[in-house]
Parts: sequence; C-alpha cells; structure tokens
Amino acid sequence: MLMTTTENIFAPTPDRRVKRGWMNLRVAHVIHETPDTDTFLMVDAEEGIRAFDYIAGQYLTFRFDDVADKPIVRSYTMSSSPCQPDTVAFTVKRVEKGLISNWLCDNVRTGSILRARGPIGRFCYDPANDKKHLFMIAAGSGVTPFVSIMRDHVSRLGQKGSPDKMTLLVSYRSTKDLICWEDLNALRNIPGCRVIVSLSREHAEKEGFLYGRINENMIAESIADAASGDYGNITFMSCGPQEMMDLGRAHALSKGVVPDQFKTESFES
Ligand SMILES: Cc1cc2nc3c(=O)[nH]c(=O)nc-3n(C[C@H](O)[C@H](O)[C@H](O)COP(=O)(O)OP(=O)(O)OC[C@H]3O[C@@H](n4cnc5c(N)ncnc54)[C@H](O)[C@@H]3O)c2cc1C
Repeated sequence: MLMTTTENIFAPTPDRRVKRGWMNLRVAHVIHETPDTDTFLMVDAEEGIRAFDYIAGQYLTFRFDDVADKPIVRSYTMSSSPCQPDTVAFTVKRVEKGLISNWLCDNVRTGSILRARGPIGRFCYDPANDKKHLFMIAAGSGVTPFVSIMRDHVSRLGQKGSPDKMTLLVSYRSTKDLICWEDLNALRNIPGCRVIVSLSREHAEKEGFLYGRINENMIAESIADAASGDYGNITFMSCGPQEMMDLGRAHALSKGVVPDQFKTESFES
C-alpha cells in the first residue's frame, strides 16, 4: 500500500483488508527477545494468514476473558512491518505486578488463540503532514511502534510516502534489555537511518552505547549530529515515560518546532 504525499493514510481504501469485530488470532511463533520481553507472531485463526492491513504505529485491542473474574482489555502495538505479508507481531514487556503482560509472557505459546480487534491509532508517519526527517524518542517497550515504522519505511527512504531520514534515540536499562535488537542493529548500517541507544544501568560506551536516561542534552546532541541542528525539517514522535516525552516536547518547542510536529503515545493508563 504505497501512499502519495497528499493522501489521507487513515481513510479506508478499497484495497485495504479489514476484519470487523473481534478476531481470533493464533500464535504462530514466539520470540524470546530479552529476559522480560516476548514477541508473538500471529495469523488469523480461520484463514491461517494475516487477514487485515494496518499502518506502522497502529495497535490492536486484546480481550482476555479467562484471566480474571471479568473480561480485561489491553492494547498492544504491532512491532512487525505492514509489508510483512504472513504474520502480524506484537512485543510485550513484563510490567512489575502487571496482570496481562505477565500472563502473556507466562502462558502464551505457539498455537494459543488470542481475541483482538483493530487496527486502531494515528501514531504513525503521515506523509501528508509530516516532515522528511522522522526523529523518534523511546524508552523500553515504547520502542515497539518505532520498530514497526522503521521496518516498514527502511526500504522506501526518500520515496513518496516515506521520510528521507529516520533517527531513533532509545533508552533501555542494559545490554540484556535490547528489544528487537537484531533488526535495529542492522538498521544502523543503512544510509538515512540512525539508531542511538542509551543504557540507564550499564556502562557500555566502548560498544557504542550512551549512558543514562534520555535527557535534553542527549536529544540536542543527537539532533546536532543527525540533522546538523535543523529542527525545521523534523517531525518528532515519542513513546515512553511521560517525563521523557515532556522533556522532548519542551526541548523541540523551545527550538521553534510547532506542537503538531511533536507526537506522543502513552502506554500507561
Ligand atoms: C496504545 C497502547 C499501546 C501499547 N502497546 C504496548 C506494546 O507494544 N508493548 C507493551 O509491552 N505494552 C504496550 N502497552 C501497554 C499495555 O497495554 C499494558 O498496559 C501493559 O502490558 C501493562 O498491563 P498489565 O495488565 O500487565 O498491567 P496492570 O495490571 O494494568 O498494571 C500494573 C501496574 O503497572 C502500571 N503500568 C501499567 N502499564 C504500564 C506501562 N506500560 N509501563 C509502566 N507501568 C505500567 C500500572 O499503573 C499499575 O500500577 C500499550 C498501551 C497502549 C495504551
């Protein structure tokens, strides 16, 4: 589904596959990303393939009927690329004492059936409104929309409907917590893509990681490095703790970025 720059990417099109209502999704494969994060690749339980289209950055709403004494609903963002034809993936990081994140990582196996509906959401690269440099700021599980976006746009950088450049500034606790790392690490070698990783609890500067939580200085230096400080050509997207998103937004606005060029998504209810 290639877009021109004027199209509304969220408008339904005749060629976009949709599934209405609750779908049964069968888990085709589980990838153990890190000690506390798993990726679940799923197909439509009836059709045996991915049965709906989505835009990178969108999420599904899952309904769990048997985990507690009443149905529980949670959202999970697709971490796969919409260009990946067979399966759709989402990546779950355990939240301390969290009911569903731990249940998913403890119980869901190949063959499990999950109920979901969607896709939903507008936290996406929108070529009609967004600038040509996409600068993404994430922490922990907040990287999932950006994994999808980077996987999707990497082969089309500079073409209609895609940014010219993508920069991801992401923070994890340690080298044990690098989510979807094989792909993100490979993206570092692609012209137009940058992945800058900071570790908040491990010094690994010799391996090319920054140290510390994402702060204003880190954002400013990454922009100086990736865009020669040219804030006018950047759309920002940020997903992670509120404090990190707030400081990113305050920094961008202080440099003249208009509010609608700084998009955020919160995973915390
Ligand atoms: C649009 C959207 C997309 C999302 N995409 C993803 C995704 O791709 N991957 C993913 O792992 N999660 C994602 N989430 C978060 C997910 O929906 C759940 O909130 C998360 O898995 C925790 O659910 P739980 O039932 O385990 O925790 P709960 O039992 O609901 O909460 C336990 C405690 O943890 C706190 N808490 C809840 N969520 C978080 C969080 N994300 N970070 C820190 N503390 C939290 C709660 O305030 C509570 O104190 C997304 C949320 C939204 C709204």
